[in-house]
Amino acid sequence: MNRILLVVFLVILAVLPQLSSTPEFWITQLNYIGLATLVVLGLVLLTGVGGLTSFGQAAFVGIGAYTTAYLTTRMGWSPWFTLFAGLAITFLVSYILGAITLRLSGHYLPLGTIAWGLSLYYLFGNLEFLGQYDGIAGIQAINIFGLSLSGGRRMFYLIWIVVLLSMWATYNLLTSRPGRAIRALRSGGGMAESFGINMASYKVIIFVYAALLASISGWLYAHMQRAVSPSPFGLNYSIEYLFMAVVGGGSSVWGAIVGSALILTLKDQIQNVLPGLINTTANFELVVFGILMILVLQYARDGVWPILSSFWASLTKQDKVQRNRAAPPDAPPLPQRQRPQAGTLVLELDSARKEFGGLVAVNDISFKLKAGEIVGLIGPNGAGKSTTFNLITGVLPTTRGKITFLGQRLDKLPSREIAKLGVGRTFQHVQLLPTMTVLENVALGAHLRRNVGVVSATLHADRKAEAQLLNEAAIQLKRVGLGDYLYEQAGNLALGQQRILEIARALAADPILLLLDEPAAGLRYKEKQELAQVLSQLRSEGMSILLVEHDMDFVMSLTDHLVVMDFGTKLAEGTPDEIQKNPAVLEAYLGGIDDELDIDEQSSAAPVAVGGAA
Ligand code: ADP
Ligand code: MG
Repeated sequence: MNRILLVVFLVILAVLPQLSSTPEFWITQLNYIGLATLVVLGLVLLTGVGGLTSFGQAAFVGIGAYTTAYLTTRMGWSPWFTLFAGLAITFLVSYILGAITLRLSGHYLPLGTIAWGLSLYYLFGNLEFLGQYDGIAGIQAINIFGLSLSGGRRMFYLIWIVVLLSMWATYNLLTSRPGRAIRALRSGGGMAESFGINMASYKVIIFVYAALLASISGWLYAHMQRAVSPSPFGLNYSIEYLFMAVVGGGSSVWGAIVGSALILTLKDQIQNVLPGLINTTANFELVVFGILMILVLQYARDGVWPILSSFWASLTKQDKVQRNRAAPPDAPPLPQRQRPQAGTLVLELDSARKEFGGLVAVNDISFKLKAGEIVGLIGPNGAGKSTTFNLITGVLPTTRGKITFLGQRLDKLPSREIAKLGVGRTFQHVQLLPTMTVLENVALGAHLRRNVGVVSATLHADRKAEAQLLNEAAIQLKRVGLGDYLYEQAGNLALGQQRILEIARALAADPILLLLDEPAAGLRYKEKQELAQVLSQLRSEGMSILLVEHDMDFVMSLTDHLVVMDFGTKLAEGTPDEIQKNPAVLEAYLGGIDDELDIDEQSSAAPVAVGGAA
């Protein structure tokens, strides 16, 4: 957000409780907004960014509130100790619940969260030592250096300092190495795994993080209210928090405040206005909420914050400034892998096979690739080239056969482990995160090369490592010719450029073996030439490359060795010269399926392409 807005916001927050003309009701309302913002901030991370829907957050608020209520009233503990006790219990409970429920996919996950949300709610209501449905009263006020925070005005500052710190921490997390992985959860899970990122563990991390924020909110709530009972920790409150996240704008930390403020203010107004309008005191606000929700989902699916922020950006021309930012400053280079000597056997497929039901997509394919070689894998559409890539990179399990990489079996490893060994790839169907910048997308590729944990990321203590990662990403982007687009949103690039971005991302992983699936598709002639130059430069640096490509001129001039596939079977292999004279290959390409050979309109027609390059 713009700095001016931020300062204005902070000044208003700081001054409001000081003015005696500020109604008490405003302060109370703002306190509730702050408490809700904490919970919603967790949902921003979990649901808005991570795509994991939870209907159980209110229960974690309850854990924080009940822990401090019980320990301060019954055990005489200080609230400052019970804060940490509450966090510890929440950590444990959310870790266990997360490890179990997050395995569920699709609508089973929200159903799972409803189940444990309800269980915890009824637990609060039924446990005798927690006061059953009466709850616990007589909770002391928090004491800071002898100052008792009794009353709304005094709690106000504590609540909002915690809120602002949590927003700062969450923002830091989202713009860090772990944050990039978290932002890939929703739509790029498979892609991220193939860069060695353990996505299942990031799911648990954001789940626990959101639960901890909710627990802190509960602790503050208990000491503001000075009493707890089960009802604010039930399912309808969880649903309300989810409303706030969605209405505010799921994926931004500022959306959390906007959503909480909007919903709570609206709820209050509805309660005031509705009885006058329809002459009833019955509880109709949920009906109005339901209707509003449908309208929001229909007309502002990304919530209110993105609308506000793009309006502000258009006023201040912020977008342009973003794009013209200077490249990240130089940082010490990341450590590099030892590359095998030229000629070493890097990759070997030995009768690799993949069946999809009755279809044999890859039919006992064998070939070898040595260090410093570019091997081309060619064949008509549907020949099994991409499937072969997916077998090598562990995206698909082999039906049988052996795949070895530098003497190590790949065919039993998950894609994450294969990436760690030094296999980088691009995808035939581009897989990037369209709303992330080009630079961040490429930095995702370098994920394994520096270790930055969640704690140091949230505390902004990761900046050296972060600078190295971004610097590496910028270097790779310049190398492939995208140096002018560092801060562009990746989704705004032309399709051909997106493919090139994927190459930069794969290079950022410092691979030994690079697998490129149709990298030149959609490129113009000149761009293809530049790409060819980059690839031969990489080869001269000792990189091993396996290349799938339809443009025959491109393939013939660049590769050292070719493997031709047709209907899943290896038709021939040899040098480009040999392949162009191979009768079986000519037969396959010229005999009926020639239109398949060259899907790229800008090159010459297929039959000419094979012969023409000779
Ligand atoms: P290529 O990359 O050479 O164009 P593919 O490897 O994508 O070919 O596909 C080879 C064959 O396997 C095709 O017939 C395709 O329809 C089939 N195929 C690929 N992926 C799957 C899948 N996940 N499930 C079922 N069939 C598949
Ligand atoms: Mg393919």
